[in-house]
Amino acid sequence: MTSTPLLSNFFAGRWQDGTGNGSTLLDPVLGTSLVRVSSAGLNLAEGFAFAREQGGAALRALTYKQRAALLGDIVKVLQANRDAYYEIATANCGTTNKDSAVDIDGAIFTLGYYTKQGEALGDATLLLDGERIRVAKDPVFQTQHIMSPTRGVALFINAFNFPSWGLWEKAAPALLSGVPVIVKPATATAWLTQRMVKDVVDAGILPAGALSVVCGSSAGLMDQLQPFDVVSFTGSAETARIIRSHPAVAQRSVRCNIEADSLNSALLDPAAAAGDEAFNLLVSEVVREMTVKSGQKCTAIRRIFVPRALFDAAAEAIGAKLAKTTVGNPRNETTRMGALVSREQFDSVTAGIAHLQTEAETLFDGRSAALVDADPSVAACVAPVLLGHRQPMQAKVLHEVEVFGPVATLMAYDSEEQAYELIRRGEGSLVASVYSCDPAFIARAAIALADSHGRVHAISPDVAAMQSGHGNVMPMSLHGGPGRAGGGEELGGLRALGFYHRRSAVQGSTAALDVLMASGAPFKP
Ligand code: NAP
Repeated sequence: MTSTPLLSNFFAGRWQDGTGNGSTLLDPVLGTSLVRVSSAGLNLAEGFAFAREQGGAALRALTYKQRAALLGDIVKVLQANRDAYYEIATANCGTTNKDSAVDIDGAIFTLGYYTKQGEALGDATLLLDGERIRVAKDPVFQTQHIMSPTRGVALFINAFNFPSWGLWEKAAPALLSGVPVIVKPATATAWLTQRMVKDVVDAGILPAGALSVVCGSSAGLMDQLQPFDVVSFTGSAETARIIRSHPAVAQRSVRCNIEADSLNSALLDPAAAAGDEAFNLLVSEVVREMTVKSGQKCTAIRRIFVPRALFDAAAEAIGAKLAKTTVGNPRNETTRMGALVSREQFDSVTAGIAHLQTEAETLFDGRSAALVDADPSVAACVAPVLLGHRQPMQAKVLHEVEVFGPVATLMAYDSEEQAYELIRRGEGSLVASVYSCDPAFIARAAIALADSHGRVHAISPDVAAMQSGHGNVMPMSLHGGPGRAGGGEELGGLRALGFYHRRSAVQGSTAALDVLMASGAPFKP
């Protein structure tokens, strides 16, 4: 039997250890064992029923304002334990403190945002969607659309790159809606998710059954889902296909949200010149996006589109900045970029770069530089790589393959229309960013790209100092994207509550609707 500590699952209202050896979580820089996880032997039917019945009933008995207060209490607990979360992130995710902040403080910020949004909904227990509409000639018979919390559980199956934010950006709107949560974090980085749930459970904030965590294998979780449950998946397109075709979704109509991979773009204004403000803003943002969390962000820039005349200048400017990125052990203060999440990801990214190189030229490759305080045969560290293609209309792989690391491809375009066409070859992405000093161009680009992107992020000199970042997901803005990005929608302020509510048209007398509407708050996302 191994001496590596086993993390417990909080399920069916109690802490339960899985059986067997489970999976061991590693430090991706040092290669050492940290903790183990196992979900083997859990009575899944019992845990889902407990959450659905006990957790759901207790949450629905509260008003939005009362549930918002619970979120506010969670914020306090997470803030009080922040240091421990940073330590876990350094050890298990291999991230620098700056990169861990995106995950940890990003989660706390999102919870705080939904606390305020929920407070504003006051003492209501349901949401009113739109105004009353006359159904008959006589105005006494009308219809009112209402949104009520679904009487099921929300199952979250999450990706490895955001163990903290990935939980709370989903749990905040779910709990505010009155829907209990069961989270299954990705195994590689499950520790931080488990620890946060443990702190919240230990603080006794939420009613029994409102928040559960299952660490380890996902086997059998989808089988538990019933028609009023929802599942929110974040991860690869391959696993997304399995989730989508599961009988729970395909046959029992379980509502399903998918956030999958994405070939996000950055677009420089055709009127830009080398070294001007728009050009410099693009260069800085590309470098930031390639290196934050070692490029392991679903929103990271993967394809960079510049006017043909600026291709060489952009390659040089981006490469010069990337060359300053020191890579290695995040515990060393001189390290700017830490590790990938695991040695498996190291192999996958290395193979992915080689695959992209079958089409692209290599403009910058930092991988020959020595790592800081890390053994290259052990650490999952990959330095940034900038690839390029001067005829991207002829490329295929570059518009299809997401390499989940510090890698992006610079591409030349000949006309504005061609740039949009190339961007759309990503077949639906989470975000495109546009760099320009010209509001008219930004508006044109936004209209051209909005239908294929969940978010269009426009960076101009007047917002340069305050813009939130291409890859940063802000709770007030929609997150998700059509097509290969999964077709999902998250966040976007109160829009997020829609996933956890059911819409129904209540047709009745004015008198009956008056009574009903007294329990509701207008849904104004
Ligand atoms: P993944 O391998 O698809 O895993 C995602 C989750 O699914 C993990 O919790 C995994 O559990 C679980 N899983 C694996 N097989 C399953 C199955 N057959 N049934 C049910 N669950 C199953 O993805 P990943 O490697 O963790 O994440 C990287 C990918 O996620 C990238 O492509 C990235 O673009 C995407 N991503 C997208 C977003 C977004 O918001 N759009 C955000 C972050 C990441 P185990 O870990 O135990 O295998």
